[in-house]
Amino acid sequence: MAGLELRGIRKDYGATAVLKGIDLSIADGEFVVFVGPSGCGKSTLLRVIAGLETVTAGDIHIDGTEVTRLAASDRGLAMVFQSYALYPHMTVHQNMSFALENMGIAKAEISARVDRAARMLRLTDYLQRKPAALSGGQRQRVAIGRAIVRDPKIFLFDEPLSNLDAELRVATRKELAALHAEIGGTMIYVTHDQVEAMTLADRIVVLNGGRIEQIGTPLDLYNRP
Ligand code: ADP
Ligand code: ADP
Repeated sequence: MAGLELRGIRKDYGATAVLKGIDLSIADGEFVVFVGPSGCGKSTLLRVIAGLETVTAGDIHIDGTEVTRLAASDRGLAMVFQSYALYPHMTVHQNMSFALENMGIAKAEISARVDRAARMLRLTDYLQRKPAALSGGQRQRVAIGRAIVRDPKIFLFDEPLSNLDAELRVATRKELAALHAEIGGTMIYVTHDQVEAMTLADRIVVLNGGRIEQIGTPLDLYNRP
């Protein structure tokens, strides 16, 4: 079956249950946003999907294949973090191509992917610069570019706009929407910003205390009492 399936996901840290049984199906190409109060488990759920955290119970399937015990690198997904985590000594081009070189992808293919991502993100003129010579918005676009060049089926975003000022947040949000329209991958996105959730999501998942409290389209949730 195509898409991402989470079944009975539980995550404990010591005696503390952080995820208490999450069941969720996400279709190919869907833009799903996780919202909820601080500490409700949004970020943990994203990291569990990414393979950056093990689960205490439950299983994860991508396109019908169980990936619960696969490493992050074998899940066909890419994550964009809140802090850009760029390598300061590398150029924009090197930041985007580095992981692909380690994966043994041919040079011509790497260049093609970097050029395409740079075009989409309006970074073509900045490929030879280092992160220190970029604006905050440009740095966050490099971080997004680094995910795009991996050519993942699923993109994971952990509050990617929260370090940007209000104006850049709106601009980058629009770019993300355009990006989703252009490349059509599945996007799973954590935020505590209602406007981001309402404008970006096909479906919003409201988490509370480690459980799914509500789930629906922005319109569904907006119209619900
Ligand atoms: P959210 O992203 O919704 O703010 P998190 O998923 O970051 O919430 O955290 C959920 C809960 O799990 C919080 O109570 C947090 O303190 C706890 N938690 C997160 N990571 C760890 C960890 N590595 N060790 C212990 N507790 C953690
Ligand atoms: P390598 O490419 O040699 O695996 P990296 O430093 O690029 O080394 O990555 C370390 C680990 O984290 C790998 O498992 C890699 O696949 C994974 N990884 C790195 N960046 C991302 C990302 N943006 N999204 C998902 N996984 C990533």
